[in-house]
Amino acid sequence: MAESAPLDYLIIAPHPDDAEVTAGGTILSLKANGARVGILDLTNGEPTPHGSPEIRRRETDAATAILGVAVRENLGLANRSLTADLESRRSLAIVLRRLRPRILLAPYWEDAHPDHVSASALVEAARFWAKLSKTDMPGEPHYPERIIYYFSVHLRLHVKPSFVVDVTPYHEDKVRALACYRSQFIEGRPTSPRTFLDELRDRARYWGWTIGTSYGEPFLCREEIGLRDLQHLV
Ligand SMILES: [Zn+2]
Repeated sequence: MAESAPLDYLIIAPHPDDAEVTAGGTILSLKANGARVGILDLTNGEPTPHGSPEIRRRETDAATAILGVAVRENLGLANRSLTADLESRRSLAIVLRRLRPRILLAPYWEDAHPDHVSASALVEAARFWAKLSKTDMPGEPHYPERIIYYFSVHLRLHVKPSFVVDVTPYHEDKVRALACYRSQFIEGRPTSPRTFLDELRDRARYWGWTIGTSYGEPFLCREEIGLRDLQHLV
């Protein structure tokens, strides 16, 4: 498939590692089923206590190699200062017109981290802007059909998801991808159970339990979700 072919799914993440934490198993599942998947990180995620831009870039490259996505880009917006302003909206809309994803994955709108709250609003606004005509934005108008929200980890909310994806066959590879982010999930974190990765595994196990499988990832959609058939329900 050509490098410029439209994406089926684009995961938009405030920081490198958010896509892996919240949707890593689903990304691997989509890939295994032949979908064309991309990730767009909005910022480089720095500064953090144990990271640097170079370390974060290396960690992201290693995780991306495990996920095997077709495209991973960074929009270069400001970490910690992410806002859904007009300039950021325009930058993101231009990328959407170029990558032409059918479905967007975005952070759930309620979060303790202001960057995640901003990212959620920014994706919604840019989705609409991407379809504008009579604009000086490059590229053809494009409107992603759906936004599916993933759940970030900064608030211990229990929001009822619209659906849970069975990621059991992909969970171990997801953990391998997460472990690439040493500066975020391993250094400075507890080294004996419960480690941060243990906690993430427990949460995936819980969501798997809700649908009767080993591991799951929850998602929410504001708009209705259509199914082509009922045969693939877990
Ligand atoms: Zn984040």
